[in-house]
Amino acid sequence: MDFDVFIVGGGPVGLMTASELALAGVRTCIIERRHTPSHYSKALTLHPRSIEILEMRGLAERFKEKGRPLPAGHFAGLNQALDFSVLDTRANYTLFIPQTETEKVLEEHVQHLGVCILRGHEVLAVRQREESAELVVQGPDGLSFLTASYIVGADGAGSTVRKQAEIAFFGTDASVTAKLGDVALENPPKSHFHTCINQEGAVVIVPLSPGIYRVISMASHKPQPLLHEPVTLEELKKDITSICGTDFGINHPVWMSRFGNASRLAECYRSGRLFLAGDAAHIHFPAGGQGLNVGLQDAMNLGWKLAAVINGRSSDWLLDTYHTERHPVGAELLRNTQIQTKLFDFTREGLYLRDLLSSLLTFPDVNRYLAEQITALSVDYEADEKMPEHHLNGKRLPDFELTLAGGNTKHLYSFLHKGSFLYVTFGEEQIKLPDLPHVRIIRAKAIDDRPEWDDVKAALIRPDGHVAWAVSRSQAESEQWIADGIRRWCGNVHIQSA
Ligand SMILES: Cc1cc2nc3c(=O)[nH]c(=O)nc-3n(C[C@H](O)[C@H](O)[C@H](O)COP(=O)(O)OP(=O)(O)OC[C@H]3O[C@@H](n4cnc5c(N)ncnc54)[C@H](O)[C@@H]3O)c2cc1C
Repeated sequence: MDFDVFIVGGGPVGLMTASELALAGVRTCIIERRHTPSHYSKALTLHPRSIEILEMRGLAERFKEKGRPLPAGHFAGLNQALDFSVLDTRANYTLFIPQTETEKVLEEHVQHLGVCILRGHEVLAVRQREESAELVVQGPDGLSFLTASYIVGADGAGSTVRKQAEIAFFGTDASVTAKLGDVALENPPKSHFHTCINQEGAVVIVPLSPGIYRVISMASHKPQPLLHEPVTLEELKKDITSICGTDFGINHPVWMSRFGNASRLAECYRSGRLFLAGDAAHIHFPAGGQGLNVGLQDAMNLGWKLAAVINGRSSDWLLDTYHTERHPVGAELLRNTQIQTKLFDFTREGLYLRDLLSSLLTFPDVNRYLAEQITALSVDYEADEKMPEHHLNGKRLPDFELTLAGGNTKHLYSFLHKGSFLYVTFGEEQIKLPDLPHVRIIRAKAIDDRPEWDDVKAALIRPDGHVAWAVSRSQAESEQWIADGIRRWCGNVHIQSA
């Protein structure tokens, strides 16, 4: 079979990208070097914006069944947790869910959508030509040479696609390391999120699955062991005893690993027919639990754009917006994780600073500012400069209730399940659009408690839940702008005056 897109890497980001492409009818194949999915979970959290995008596709319930909601998140493991319950979202919590479960749900979903997954295949080389992109793949039956229109590198930190595309990965190597152990504890702590932080270092313990706990330790003493040195149970036991005064009866390690604060960002997320997403584009210390989340959001931004171009509805400018919109988000992710790493300072002065910042987090505005950053709810995109100015342009939309012209109320995200655009008109119909598979049209009466929508005559909502543009009632030549805006974003469709 011929494919339009090869995705290198079947981790969470590759799977999410495949799901978005397949939803739009794009012939997609994932190439994954692992023969079977990983049994171990690096990530344990899905944050509000990720839950929102899953809700947009009608998938959130499946994740909620496998996870546990917690009303909080954290910044640098400060004693005062971040309160997510105050955020402007229906998903105002952290979903505690092991990465293995996230991948399992996504893999079932993409299989249902007909995505081909080639496991046990490793991409060795990538090349692009004017009309196509090519891969050299090592599989169980030897080498094969594959061709598609585009390639997405979702192949993690050591990305072959990034290296083959010669995209620079600027940043710094690890200077701080931490240890992780998924272990049994004979005398586990009582709380669900147990932390000990003092001049000896920091320990975090959370229950993972029946009888198994995730223990993370960062000892303050130097020098730091090298990243590739295996963690021993003795080493972990020594850390937690010196930091917590007990070893909690640690035994039976299921998985132990060491990780560090190498921070790097790809110089560009696109090179012609090649794209990078997730850890292939950005790596950092996993502080605040953000990497997988930001990767899913990269995928959500890229998928519909690539599909629009492949399906002949848009041109290259849209693909360039993937870099211009997501690269600044990656840069901000590195900045906030570097700040958090700096705060893992266990000297006396460092602990004073942590106490001070903890007390600042009790101020609602400070809590909201950092919580919106960690959860990615503060991510808005630049307004489309080809459209008239409107304060909603580029903004992320929460899942608010709309009252439809007929009087029914519906949540906004329920119209985005198929990954189409949503064209919303208020009042009299302004223009007539033909039936289009990729544009859902609704007539709305009002959006309650959202004064920022009061002046809107019509708006186009992107498949990823951001406003492409809104046109106000007072806008001169509004019908012309609306028609132009639809053609610009949704393809050259035939539009009549109403
Ligand atoms: C200790 C730790 C805790 C973390 N906790 C959190 C958290 O709580 N929340 C959070 O959001 N993030 C967390 N992260 C980060 C998160 O795990 C990563 O950001 C996430 O796995 C990135 O997903 P990905 O799909 O981009 O890459 P990966 O998960 O690395 O997947 C890449 C895939 O590509 C495959 N691959 C690589 N090269 C090739 C090739 N040449 N050919 C074919 N296949 C290839 C690999 O086998 C792999 O399956 C944590 C990370 C660590 C280390």
